[in-house]
Amino acid sequence: MTREGRNRASAQSPAWLEELGIWLSPSLCLPWGVSEDAMIDLTSDAFFMGQALREARKAYAAEEVPIGAVVVRESQVIARAWNQVETLRDATAHAEMLALTAAQNTVEDWRLDGCTIYVTKEPCPMCAGAIVHCRPVRVVYGCPDLKGGAAGGWINLLQANPPLNHQCEVTGGVLEDECVGLLQGFFREARARKGEEGGSQGGNRVRR
Ligand code: ZN
Repeated sequence: MTREGRNRASAQSPAWLEELGIWLSPSLCLPWGVSEDAMIDLTSDAFFMGQALREARKAYAAEEVPIGAVVVRESQVIARAWNQVETLRDATAHAEMLALTAAQNTVEDWRLDGCTIYVTKEPCPMCAGAIVHCRPVRVVYGCPDLKGGAAGGWINLLQANPPLNHQCEVTGGVLEDECVGLLQGFFREARARKGEEGGSQGGNRVRR
């Protein structure tokens, strides 16, 4: 049994039931007065997307488009990153690109075998191409990008094998509302700021 499987089993069923091969559903094992909603599964997609959202909020605070990513292996976060295009003046500094590089440094290998990358927005073609080269098992994203997404929104580079030499499992829509809300809030504020500055400066071009 995997470590994740053991954790899940011990969280759900007493040992004597496990030995009999009987697992109880989590809702049957909760202490009195504790709702299932209050329980946080530290191995779940929602938990790790929450970690990616924390990175996205760092981007927001730095006035970057708020997108964050984490790379997870064996239920451990091995790399975190947020979009830093403006900060680094580098158009390739998307959250996924930085997270992939950090993860490769952690595992000391360019192959991200057994890894899952969580990102708050569907990867663009550049990031999807890089992800395929690094060969993680899964990609989990928050909000879809129907115009430019390369995990099925516009095109699907993550599952284009052949001709590409690897394909990932893809899960979308995890904590979608939170991920969309962060982006919408950012662009709403940016438009408002642009309007204010444009009005006070006679319509001069402003950065955002
Ligand atoms: Zn990208």
